[in-house]
Amino acid sequence: MVFWAPAIAAGISNVFPEVFHALCARHFLGNLKSVSKRVKSYEWHYWKMYKAYRKSDFDHHYGILARHIPDSARTLTTVEFNRWSRHHADRVRYAYLTSNSAESMNALSVHARKLPITMLLKFFRASVQQWFWEHRNTADGLTTPVTPYAECKLGKRNPKSISWTVKPISQVKFEVLDMKKGGKVNLQDKTCTCKQWQFSGIPCGHVMAVARYFVLRNVTTHVQKYFHTETYKSAYMEDINPLDHISEWIDPGHLQTVLPPLVTKRQSGRPKSTARIPS
Ligand SMILES: [Zn+2]
Repeated sequence: MVFWAPAIAAGISNVFPEVFHALCARHFLGNLKSVSKRVKSYEWHYWKMYKAYRKSDFDHHYGILARHIPDSARTLTTVEFNRWSRHHADRVRYAYLTSNSAESMNALSVHARKLPITMLLKFFRASVQQWFWEHRNTADGLTTPVTPYAECKLGKRNPKSISWTVKPISQVKFEVLDMKKGGKVNLQDKTCTCKQWQFSGIPCGHVMAVARYFVLRNVTTHVQKYFHTETYKSAYMEDINPLDHISEWIDPGHLQTVLPPLVTKRQSGRPKSTARIPS
């Protein structure tokens, strides 16, 4: 079984040299399940391993899989860890571990994909126009410095850290005791040894405990700019305009006429379904 397509990764690095190629956690799990039915019993450990921020957490859950479903664990090693594990990723993946957004686009355009290319482009343009309008309205209604997503994450992490103890090391470095593995926060480097702050872009409980130690410091200042409300607003600032009617287009006089491809012979058999091949 092929677990990933190196040709796709090569194509992506050619066209988009600045981005990295990673696997969708859900599809990867689906492929593993097709190899062994026993994977289902260890799904919780799979997700813990995939999402782990700390290497020690990754190793712990990988070790459990290796002990109980060794064949599947070995299969995991056929794909480089940096292509799937959040801890090992070459770039920050934040919470983006699946291809759900691409699947949403697939679901949205399932009928439009059968249209001629010009109508398909019109469909996507109209969809983007609507999204920009809706998101801009949402953004205009926000009164918090960070997005609702970041607010929600902070709200969940905050209560957990209330009883944690902060021990200063220097003006910018702090040790935080949490009854588990603890964390060392560096406010200058914007890092914590639990890795959650730098890998998710949103302060971990250790950073929140340090912010509380300083009483007046607002923890939202430690949220990466990608989750700021101002960033959200600026992402949808532009208008997406429709084209005028074709009769009102201005012909610059040097456009090339694109002819349809020559169809020489119809292929035998039933036409191939346009549905995507399942994972
Ligand atoms: Zn931390």
